[in-house]
Amino acid sequence: MSNNNPGCLGIFFKFIGKSPKENVKEETKLPYAMRDDFLSNAELSFYKVLQQYIGNRAIICPKVSLQDIFFVHASNQSERSTYNNKISRKHVDFLLCSTDTVKPFCGIELDDRSHQRADRIERDKFVEEVFEIANLRLVRFQNKKAYSFAELQEKLDSVLEDVDRIESKHSQEVTTDSNNGSVPQCKKCGVPMVKREAKKGDYKGQEFYGCPNFPKCREVVYIS
Ligand SMILES: [Zn+2]
Repeated sequence: MSNNNPGCLGIFFKFIGKSPKENVKEETKLPYAMRDDFLSNAELSFYKVLQQYIGNRAIICPKVSLQDIFFVHASNQSERSTYNNKISRKHVDFLLCSTDTVKPFCGIELDDRSHQRADRIERDKFVEEVFEIANLRLVRFQNKKAYSFAELQEKLDSVLEDVDRIESKHSQEVTTDSNNGSVPQCKKCGVPMVKREAKKGDYKGQEFYGCPNFPKCREVVYIS
């Protein structure tokens, strides 16, 4: 007898309502199951070499949605939803993040044969543009059965060298208002910033300009 068949007794209970809890549970069971193909064989094989190459120099996140990495800074509602839809169902195969801040610094894409299809080429070009405009590196590898350490070194050595430099530069960067009181524009989003007051911490009570897209954008201009 299959598990889905309640049998005579089950029907009887259902009918007289003796087992309402069980009935509810059956009816509200969500239709989800875990996928067995989270990583394809090629992705897994690449991951293993990548892991070896990276060691503890970065965190490797597989399959990250572009919406987790990027946001749309258009102020127009319909434009925002149009561009959100363009990234909502796309992901990057691997994302390398700083071990310290877990800030992304490089996306990695594996190009299989489908990457030669017209729709795929268009998709790849779009994704490349998104990474470029957002100032995030994107490195591509041909999808194949096995990868060598040397291939990864060739493409990723310079990326990893850059990371330390970018990270140390960013943490020192403090912008102060040089506009003589006029509202500055967020240099990342190009929108007028909003005057705020620090509620806590070392700068408590001090005024600054913050981006209206906070927390997705944390650009700050201190008022001197
Ligand atoms: Zn901003």
